[in-house]
Amino acid sequence: MVKKVSLAKIFLLIILISIIFISGEARGVKNIIFMVPDGMTLSNVTATRIYAFGIGQKRLYLETLDQIGYQTTHSLNSMVTDSAAAASAWACGEKFNNGEISYHSETGVSPKTILELARELGKKSGLVATSTITHATPAVFAAHVANRNWQSEIGRQYISEKDVNVILGGGLNIFQTKMKSDKHSHPVELIQQAKENGYTVVLTKKELVNSKKSAKLLGLFNRSALTPSYRKGEVKNADQEPSLAEMTSVALEILERNPRGFFLLVEGSQIDWANHANNLEYQISEILEFDRAVKVVLDWVNQKKPRKENTLIIIVSDHGCGGFAIKGPMGKTLTQPGQIVNEGWIWGSHTGEDTIIWSQGPYSRHLGKAIDNTDIFHIMKAALYGKKYQKQ
Ligand SMILES: [Zn+2]
Repeated sequence: MVKKVSLAKIFLLIILISIIFISGEARGVKNIIFMVPDGMTLSNVTATRIYAFGIGQKRLYLETLDQIGYQTTHSLNSMVTDSAAAASAWACGEKFNNGEISYHSETGVSPKTILELARELGKKSGLVATSTITHATPAVFAAHVANRNWQSEIGRQYISEKDVNVILGGGLNIFQTKMKSDKHSHPVELIQQAKENGYTVVLTKKELVNSKKSAKLLGLFNRSALTPSYRKGEVKNADQEPSLAEMTSVALEILERNPRGFFLLVEGSQIDWANHANNLEYQISEILEFDRAVKVVLDWVNQKKPRKENTLIIIVSDHGCGGFAIKGPMGKTLTQPGQIVNEGWIWGSHTGEDTIIWSQGPYSRHLGKAIDNTDIFHIMKAALYGKKYQKQ
């Protein structure tokens, strides 16, 4: 009799374990890694790939993800979005006016962001960027303000209200001084406040790699945005700044110690700025820098099966910029590795086309379609809770 009960219990346990482990979608995804090549279009990817590998079949890392779809990008008040409205749509699943950071100015309503929902489930969070870390794209996930320029208030919300575990990028000035244009500036210096709130504060690449044991890490590696990778050789002390790949690697190491997982945002912020400047060398080097961060993420998930099965990776640009096009090779022959394409641009501002979504992991099949930028929030939310995804 005793033996029979034990067998029945074991049988029940096996069924339960099977339900939990076989169906990744049923129990909620453990980690979400959201990567943004800001302002990047498909022709930017083509030009970078040709520079890296020439004409042929070899692909950038970001092109190797399982699912490919695309998204519409318009904001609430404009056919051509800015980064604030576009990223707020991902963060909250609603359309916003250009300039708003997960906050509706007209109603004063601040919907909960995907990072805040993840936190409620006991997950840790991280923001990594090559701009000031309080710039629009990272800001929307962990702050609510009416104006994207209120960067010191955004920083205050990161460290005092949202308790973001890993914050890495540029913007030392914002955390050290009171900005004139910012009427929400906090009178307390934010670096000091961060230390009081338990953050380890680091300012160089060396300090960063020595801080992997920190529970909460604030890394500010430039007074303003980080030095663009193509200019690092000519700028004093730029070698003390970590690359996007190095910051991503440290963020993963810290965040993965949480048994309940994490939400991590990684932004190649300056791809957009290269397109604003119509500068091909800048554009290609920033996309290659971003792609090295993608390699860090892919190597990390591929290292262990449970990581791969429980991590949703999304790579998506917020909007186009510059109207970059490839006119042909530079010269008569097909372009070889190391050679650049003959390019054209229409202007120095954002453009209104759809943008590509690369993704893999649980729920990514919902991203391999023609969707809206707000849909991405609802797919991530369904993934977090292990619920069936239904288009809103
Ligand atoms: Zn821009």
